[in-house]
Amino acid sequence: MSLEQKRILNTVIPGPKSAELQKRRSAAVSSGVGTMLPAFIEQAHGAILKDVDGNQLIDLGTGIGVVTIGHTNEGVVDAVQKQVAAFTHTLFTVTPYEKYVRAAELLIKHSPGSFAKKAAFFNSGAEAVENAVKIARRATGRHEIAVFDHAYHGRTSLTMAMNFKAHPYATGFGPLPGSVNHAPMSYPFRDPEGLTGEQAAARAITYLEKRVGATQLAALFIEPIQGEAGFIVPAPGFLRTLGAWCKENGIVMVADEVQSGMARTGKWFASQWEEGFEPDLVTVAKGIAGGMPLSGVVGRAEIMDAAHAGGLGGTFGGSPTALAAAVAVMEQFEQGNWLNRATEIGELISTRLNDMKTKFPVIGEVRGVGAMQAVEFIEPGTLNPNQAVSDAMLKHCHSNGVVLLNAGTYSNVIRMLPPLSISDELLHDALDVFEQGLASLS
Ligand SMILES: *Cc1c(COP(=O)(O)O)cnc(C)c1O
Repeated sequence: MSLEQKRILNTVIPGPKSAELQKRRSAAVSSGVGTMLPAFIEQAHGAILKDVDGNQLIDLGTGIGVVTIGHTNEGVVDAVQKQVAAFTHTLFTVTPYEKYVRAAELLIKHSPGSFAKKAAFFNSGAEAVENAVKIARRATGRHEIAVFDHAYHGRTSLTMAMNFKAHPYATGFGPLPGSVNHAPMSYPFRDPEGLTGEQAAARAITYLEKRVGATQLAALFIEPIQGEAGFIVPAPGFLRTLGAWCKENGIVMVADEVQSGMARTGKWFASQWEEGFEPDLVTVAKGIAGGMPLSGVVGRAEIMDAAHAGGLGGTFGGSPTALAAAVAVMEQFEQGNWLNRATEIGELISTRLNDMKTKFPVIGEVRGVGAMQAVEFIEPGTLNPNQAVSDAMLKHCHSNGVVLLNAGTYSNVIRMLPPLSISDELLHDALDVFEQGLASLS
């Protein structure tokens, strides 16, 4: 069902009906499951969320970069409806179906690396990361894995240990699994000025060689653009240098593209922006299936085949309905103008935000690639994180009908992950609200 692509403020946000529902929610739902903006949604289309009080919000969050293709995209809705009516479950490892194979073929075709590849499907991003760990350990016969500062990989027991931030992800949930080693990231805004990607990679490599030993490492996990960290884009050369070191030392290089992948940055995968960088494995989830729960691991055939039959899988992994959606999404990315649109959206947002940076000294940096753009707030004239501004900006935007997300190790970043179906007009409207917020703060 379509919705007028327009921001409408009908009541305060959240309105009275949402407030009633929030009371029921508080009584029935675990407080461990948080809510950022308690406006209950009853319908969505394109870039608009309509809440139960009749407010229409501009969605620059897309459920954390999931509905990249836009809410209720017709091709996706149609594919899901047809699949649900045909069959919903057999379990691919019991009796298979074509959509699983077709989705694997599409991922193989568009993921980085010119070598022979294979794929496997799961339910969530964290599950894909866990499976990549299993596969890499089986392929190398080694135990240790490495991750980067500021990284986020999920909320399961193993991925909790792979995250940089203990709070809120791991507080009180230990003991955490061992054999997870954290290495220094390239964070150009906060690294010493002039540190190149190669130098930042050398710093990480020295650290890992001393702390762990290259021969002990099964895999190195990196988000080519860090998501929850606030869209940290490593300096050019960082990924390529790490990739070469992994190759020399028999370490499986895994790009966690759960947030940065699937057309988000204007290429199928963010890894493809760094020349000469070919990760052995790539994890995908979020944007792959237009909102249906699906994740996958794709990469070098000989590594993917290292796991024994029965070693990978799960009851719901690679559900036919989610895969039907994924095929519909990927076929549209292949045929349509989606990738270019991500680049155009990135240019529009970064032009507007960089203009705001000249007027508002609380903006320390505007960064990102394609439709993945963020603002890091600081105390003017310093590098000190300014969470107060970030919090106030979120509040301002949410009350004015623009859904944005916070991020960052210091919670001082606001990130934008709009659907690629958003119009320029709607983007400008959302950015006007953002700019008014900055003006009202200063
Ligand atoms: C969201 C995310 C995950 C975890 O995905 P879930 O589907 O929430 O389990 C893993 N890695 C990255 C980079 C993510 O952004």
